Amino acid sequence: MTEAARNFIAGEWIAAAEVHPDVNPSNTNDVVGQFPRATAADTERAIEAARAAFPKWSRTTPQERYEILKKISDEILARKDELGRILSREEGKTLPEGVGETVRAGQIFAFFAGECLRLGGEAIPSVRPGVGVEVTREPIGVVGMITPWNFPIAIPAWKIAPALAYGNCIVFKPAELVPATAHALAEIIVRSGIPAGVFNLVQGRGSVVGETILRSPKIDAVTFTGSVPTGRKVAQAAIESTPMKKIQLEMGGKNPLVILDDADLKVAVECAVNGAFFSTGQRCTASSRLIVTERIHDRFLDAMSERLRGLVVDDALKAGTHIGPVVDEGQLEQDMKYVAIGKDEGARLVLGGERLNRESPGFYMAPALFADVDNSMRIAREEIFGPVATVIRAKGYDEALAIANDTEFGLSSGICTTSLKYAQHFKRNAEAGMVMVNLPTAGVDYHVPFGGRKGSSYGPREQGAYAREFYTTVKTAYSFSDVDPPRPAASE
Ligand code: NAD
Repeated sequence: MTEAARNFIAGEWIAAAEVHPDVNPSNTNDVVGQFPRATAADTERAIEAARAAFPKWSRTTPQERYEILKKISDEILARKDELGRILSREEGKTLPEGVGETVRAGQIFAFFAGECLRLGGEAIPSVRPGVGVEVTREPIGVVGMITPWNFPIAIPAWKIAPALAYGNCIVFKPAELVPATAHALAEIIVRSGIPAGVFNLVQGRGSVVGETILRSPKIDAVTFTGSVPTGRKVAQAAIESTPMKKIQLEMGGKNPLVILDDADLKVAVECAVNGAFFSTGQRCTASSRLIVTERIHDRFLDAMSERLRGLVVDDALKAGTHIGPVVDEGQLEQDMKYVAIGKDEGARLVLGGERLNRESPGFYMAPALFADVDNSMRIAREEIFGPVATVIRAKGYDEALAIANDTEFGLSSGICTTSLKYAQHFKRNAEAGMVMVNLPTAGVDYHVPFGGRKGSSYGPREQGAYAREFYTTVKTAYSFSDVDPPRPAASE
């Protein structure tokens, strides 16, 4: 890409006054492209366009919306390798992870194409004679979407697809670190034939584009995925605006993976390595707390260390790389800071935790594994969002469960065990929105609800049919008709 990319506002590609470079974290000499930094005025234009498009778009037939979503899905899937490459190049997850995420985005659009046709209502008998009650769902209006950098295509897909399926218009503000994927996705959406104004891409800073979305009285709802501090700002602004906005917040995690004495060691190590370190540990569902019971503890630590030593940390686009770079210098500094904090707190760094040099200049870090961690330490309580995992020893199942639940977050929670009794008990008692048995805490299906409890989430769930709770509003309609008049007498 030689020319600077543009925003898509009111059906047109619009150049921005300011642009910024998108740098490849595997090789900082490689600039992916120049991307726009929109102004508040650009954002307001996009909001106006979405408002203007809403009356017509919200009355399109399910078939019209189905066809648009299906086209988007088809193009994403047909171009999965190319799109996955753009994603990995700018975000730093490995190429198979980038392509896998792209396929997931295509599947999500296909699922919501189907959802256009499945949306129904209810007809309910009234408690009053002659009255009928209908409960239907209508679109909420103009939805602002603010997304993070760590799933550059899947998260936008699981917000954009249901919003369109249920008849809403969109102002989409992606994270500044991943503009190329957002741009490529927007081009596909535009090519689907979507009417002008229905979908708007506004790339820029959170403090400018994001804040304008939050303050605008013309935005009806905001769906946000990102950190807790930004989520809190979204909630505050939503309540302060007139009218108040509907919100959906998906935020951080400090997800536990419990490993019991009776676990299959190989399964436990695979779950832990995948959950804690794949995607460079930059997943809200990452297993950053490995809670291991007494008798398996040392064997687990040995097997885990051996497995980690065999992992290749290198350029995300190179074949054979298991773990790509950290997303940028700021995140790498944060990860290294937590390694230092862990050591100061008295945790034992078993391996990793240092910056690595590779052929190309990038943000490489050796996956860090801490043992002898107490759950009160900062490295066990605060979200690090990098390739850093902590091992916490527990006496038995009860203590392991208590530690797992002793966190302000509640997104995903996992257990490795061969005991049905403990698996069942854990599923019922883990204080998290998603529970995994003998599976990594990260890695979910796209046709079922996604979301957490406590500090991880706020508002209705995303994904699957449950997405309609956020993207629609319920209407209860009553009507009287004298359909059952007194019958004439038989002799008449
Ligand atoms: P972030 O909160 O820094 O940014 C998220 C988005 O908010 C970005 O688009 C950013 O530009 C925007 N933003 C920043 N300041 C804003 C403001 N004042 N007003 C409006 N918008 C603003 O988060 P991040 O660093 O991009 O992502 C990492 C975080 O995302 C982690 O905490 C991670 O756990 C979380 N996350 C959660 C989920 C989930 O589903 N629970 C999924 C992925 C990531």
